[in-house]
Amino acid sequence: DVRVRFAPSPTGQIHIGNIRTALFNYLFAKENDGTFILRIEDTDQERSTSEFEEVIHKEMEWLGLDWDEGANVGGDFGPYRQMERLDIYEEYIEELLNKDLAYRCYCTPEELDQMREEQKANGQPPRYDGRCRNLTEEERQELEAEGREPVIRFQSPVKEREVVVNDLVYGNVSFSSDVIDDFVIVKSDGIPTYNFAVVVDDHLMEISHVIRGEDHLSNTPKQQLLYDAFDWEAPNFAHLPMILGSDRSKLSKRSGEAYVYVSEYRKKGYLPEALVNFLSLLGWSPKDEEEILSKEEIIDRFSIDGVNESAAVFDVEKLNWMNGVYIRDTELDKIVDLALPYLEAEYDLSDKSKEWIKLLVSTAQESLDYIAQITDEVEVFFSELEYEDKEEAIELFQEEDVDLVLKTLKEESKKLNSFKQQEVRDMMNRVRKELPVGGRLFFHPTRIALSGKTSGPALYDVATLLGKEETIKRLERALS
Ligand code: GLU
Repeated sequence: DVRVRFAPSPTGQIHIGNIRTALFNYLFAKENDGTFILRIEDTDQERSTSEFEEVIHKEMEWLGLDWDEGANVGGDFGPYRQMERLDIYEEYIEELLNKDLAYRCYCTPEELDQMREEQKANGQPPRYDGRCRNLTEEERQELEAEGREPVIRFQSPVKEREVVVNDLVYGNVSFSSDVIDDFVIVKSDGIPTYNFAVVVDDHLMEISHVIRGEDHLSNTPKQQLLYDAFDWEAPNFAHLPMILGSDRSKLSKRSGEAYVYVSEYRKKGYLPEALVNFLSLLGWSPKDEEEILSKEEIIDRFSIDGVNESAAVFDVEKLNWMNGVYIRDTELDKIVDLALPYLEAEYDLSDKSKEWIKLLVSTAQESLDYIAQITDEVEVFFSELEYEDKEEAIELFQEEDVDLVLKTLKEESKKLNSFKQQEVRDMMNRVRKELPVGGRLFFHPTRIALSGKTSGPALYDVATLLGKEETIKRLERALS
């Protein structure tokens, strides 16, 4: 059975790289009719909060990454919060201590620093030298009497050999014994370290595949040794390539244009379906090179084979393009719902009809990359008319043909009883056909007269949204 887990630490907003990890686990589970588990790794007590756990739930729900087992939904392999599993870890720590595969270490941070300094001076790699490995009972009691609080270290069997990790993405990766010393498995406060807890949990939760960021690849040999020590079969490992900013540095708050937290994309009005689509292509590519894919289509195509080793560059422009495609593909009513909060926060809509708002949003739907842009996009309908290029506008309005166009439109607008989209469109089409004036001298000046701009939505929509009174007023202003 395929059982995979996403194991975030609730210590902050969710980083885009982490949610990509969650997504790939989800996709892998779905592809294999497996189980997707959400485990909360909250052993960093100082930084973990229940608010951040909520953030994890919220963002995953927003993206539709439903999990089958987890702290808030239960399951047969709980508890799913590490801090609720301390007694479980204790049992396994005891086992290692009893088998002499772990020992208490009383070294102080100062002593450890000094050890590293000396190793450095001798040109040796920094590693714990195992000096507490063989303490006698007497020595231990003495050290405890000094008030020293021990950590527990794993007794690494690695001397000269290497440890090889077989990764589904990176293949066989070997680590020299230099990097694996007697690492700490329980801190002095009695809380297990990540490398220990993760092995116990993945084993007990019967995780079949550990899919996580490449930054954890270097932890894997340590975890492999723990599996060996317990005589457990290790799960399959699949590490996902890092995500880089466009400057090819690790995607971080400082790497420029791309946001790093999922919440920022949600707040800017990216569509979850588009973000899922985009994230799925960060480090994975389908065989058919199709880019716009629904979640179901991605699940159909997804496989670990298609995950690349090389780092994925987060291309914001591509995301914006893709999100725009999704926006144009979404029903107008839904876009209206999504846009309303942004519009309401910026403009007074109290005297606007539903119909008017719908038309307003429809004029922007074509050009939006993400929903938050709508407030700028429709600004002309809420603010005083301002010509982008005033001199050019005045010059243009003085041309004889243009004068005729604007005058005729003004008179015909006055005659209209109903100033709805259909009537306005018919009227404008009629005027355009009847006047002996070329298209350019019709559209361009009229657009500037009504919106101050040289581009934008269809003219009849602009006029309809402005309403009869304001349309006439603006035409008069251009004629004056
Ligand atoms: N809590 C770890 C993290 O957030 C989990 C790593 C893992 O998946 O093993 O990075």
